[in-house]
Amino acid sequence: MRRMAASGLPLRSTVEGISWPAFPDPAGEAMLAMIWQLERSERFTPARLRSLQMVQVRALLRHAAIHVPFYAELWGGMGAGRLGFDPGVDALTPKRFAALPLVTRAMLEGAGERAFSTTLPPSHGTVHAGLTAGTTGSPLHFRATGLTQFMWRAFTLRDHLWHRRDLSGKLAAIRRMQARRAQEPNWGLATAGLCNTGPAVGLNVDHEIVEQAAWLVEQDPHSLITHPANLYALAGWFIGHGMKLPNLRDIRTVSDRVTPEQRAACRVAFGLPLVDSYSTRELGYLALQCPGREHYHVQEEGVLVELLDEKDRPVPQGATGRVVVTSLHNFAMPFVRYDTGDYATAGPPCDCGRGLAVLARIDGRARNLMSMPDGSRRWPGCELIDLDGVPGVRGFQLVQVAIDRLELHVVAARPLGPADDAKLEAAVRASLGRGFDLTVLSVEHLLHTADGRFEPFVNRVGG
Ligand SMILES: [Zn+2]
Repeated sequence: MRRMAASGLPLRSTVEGISWPAFPDPAGEAMLAMIWQLERSERFTPARLRSLQMVQVRALLRHAAIHVPFYAELWGGMGAGRLGFDPGVDALTPKRFAALPLVTRAMLEGAGERAFSTTLPPSHGTVHAGLTAGTTGSPLHFRATGLTQFMWRAFTLRDHLWHRRDLSGKLAAIRRMQARRAQEPNWGLATAGLCNTGPAVGLNVDHEIVEQAAWLVEQDPHSLITHPANLYALAGWFIGHGMKLPNLRDIRTVSDRVTPEQRAACRVAFGLPLVDSYSTRELGYLALQCPGREHYHVQEEGVLVELLDEKDRPVPQGATGRVVVTSLHNFAMPFVRYDTGDYATAGPPCDCGRGLAVLARIDGRARNLMSMPDGSRRWPGCELIDLDGVPGVRGFQLVQVAIDRLELHVVAARPLGPADDAKLEAAVRASLGRGFDLTVLSVEHLLHTADGRFEPFVNRVGG
């Protein structure tokens, strides 16, 4: 654990009278054993990583074909069936894997209980139920295990170690949460068994930016975690008021797509790089940002990620494809070639020495793409729309309500007149062109997804 030592934070020993070398508690020991493996596997070659994944996926297929009714039907059972091979007997090759049918979210929603395993090896731990929801459609009920939650924590710790976070500092989180405010003695489960971290404080992201800024100044944190759009708004406030957070050492974002403008604003406002990660509730961590770079490494010890084009073929380097994920360890609700609805761009190998696949960027979700009359989809590029010419605009959101009709929802500090509407429309058209009707609506609140996320573009036309 050189890097843990490098962070200047001693491991916590739980054996009376022994402080060095430390004897952590059993949960801490298990975490250290996993981190020890991850620090080695991240340097494996792509070919070695893929072959280890094939061994693990084969075990998952064997389980799913027997114990998960949805997959038993989809694949035609355990024998050769529709699979074309028997995962109980035959090795899994990349070719056999690529021939497995894709699974959509709608298929899993439709499967209901049949998507859950009827039995689970006890060593996988307690089964947890969860819910994930999008802008449209019904929520997906999913299940996770103690083991998948352990892997979630291991990747969280890997993220701390990659980015050399000083865990002894104070962590401030501005996120969507149940409570208005929160206060914890430590940074949470990923580090709980290992070391004594600094305290953590939380503020619900629905507070006004000015309230958030005042809270941050008062808390004076060392580490900040929030959503990218919120960070962007905070950066604007701190730049505008010529204020700094003198002790802040690192900034993390979660949940939403990060834009180059948000990264730049973070640097200007706080003198720090924005460090992002890519996760979903049902799949856990998919990718973490590479230290010192702006691209992401797939967490290949937890997920097999494919980027596929419209004909379900892997996209070449530099191209954008649909993110299709196989979750390696979830035996309670297997996700095998699960089409997430997200898009990402394949990056070239990284020069940092890690063999983990590279995502040049996370492009976002299909529901945030604009539907075009010819059936195609495009990125609306909301971050490029400049509404600064209209004073008092606090926030906006574009909502596509028909193939040729958009609404611009605007939150403004004052009533907007026809001249303002004309300026707003001109700004949107400067970015998006004239091929649609646009209505400007003054609103009190912008729309959020059922699970509370803000998205600058909402598509209500196609799923
Ligand atoms: Zn790298």
